[in-house]
Amino acid sequence: MDNLDDKFYRAKIVKRSDIAPDLWLIRVEPGGAFTFKPGQYATLGVLTESKRIERAYSIVSSPSESELEFFFELVPQGELTPKLYQLKVGDEMLMRKSPKGLFTLDQKSGRTNHFLVCTVTGVAPFVSYVRTLFRQWKEGVFQGEHKLFILNGASRSWEFGYYQELSDFAQQAPWLKYTATVSRPWDDETWKGEMGRVDDVLRKYSDLWGLDGTNSVAYLCGHPDMIENGKSMLKRIGFTKQHVKEEVYWIPTKEAAAT
Ligand SMILES: Cc1cc2nc3c(=O)[nH]c(=O)nc-3n(C[C@H](O)[C@H](O)[C@H](O)COP(=O)(O)OP(=O)(O)OC[C@H]3O[C@@H](n4cnc5c(N)ncnc54)[C@H](O)[C@@H]3O)c2cc1C
Repeated sequence: MDNLDDKFYRAKIVKRSDIAPDLWLIRVEPGGAFTFKPGQYATLGVLTESKRIERAYSIVSSPSESELEFFFELVPQGELTPKLYQLKVGDEMLMRKSPKGLFTLDQKSGRTNHFLVCTVTGVAPFVSYVRTLFRQWKEGVFQGEHKLFILNGASRSWEFGYYQELSDFAQQAPWLKYTATVSRPWDDETWKGEMGRVDDVLRKYSDLWGLDGTNSVAYLCGHPDMIENGKSMLKRIGFTKQHVKEEVYWIPTKEAAAT
């Protein structure tokens, strides 16, 4: 049996905000050095009497923040999220000492338009990009040469964990556009913004923002169906695989895929 402390930190929860009945965010003190790039994920876990349960979670915070932030969706029949949901400020979780993932902002392709498309918790890596660039912009290190265009989908408006923050950044930063779209507006009568699933309005926003397969890199994050549909739509507007990045959060079960 390997020693847990060789591979894992005991990350301590220092803040928790519940933003909807099944969505919440936490901030943790990692418990040691944790160097990551915006867009990467951490592996979080809990120990039960019989085993260790671990899953991947995109990091919301920027590397310049001393705490790490995560945005969770409760999967009621899931193995780990019901356990994470029980945790309160002061509790600890296991966190692997190394971050992982390649879903980072591509600043090397020569393309400076970044089309960032996500569902619900899939906004996490994009918040990390924006927080990082915003700080660098304020410091004069980033001149706005990369342009970020975020299309953020959810069923209802209270599921947008970062609506206010991203709207505020977009008002200040000429290099950022942010649109949130709600797919169940009939459940959300006060919503006055965009309506439709992200994959349904993707074409409209690529036209509006002038993003296509010749000038942009696209990033799809979150729900597997959105990613499949989003990839087909991007292909139709000329994106090749080379310029489409994806972070699929789960694999649909056969039963779910059949419904
Ligand atoms: C790179 C990466 C980054 C991720 N980042 C995040 C993140 O920032 N926030 C976050 O909440 N999750 C994120 N996930 C998903 C996360 O790793 C877990 O899969 C998720 O939290 C469910 O874990 P669980 O143990 O509760 O459910 P499991 O026991 O793993 O799954 C139970 C069943 O639910 C399905 N399922 C899993 N997740 C969902 C879902 N959200 N909605 C509907 N069905 C689902 C599974 O396919 C499975 O059939 C990420 C996944 C990857 C691969």
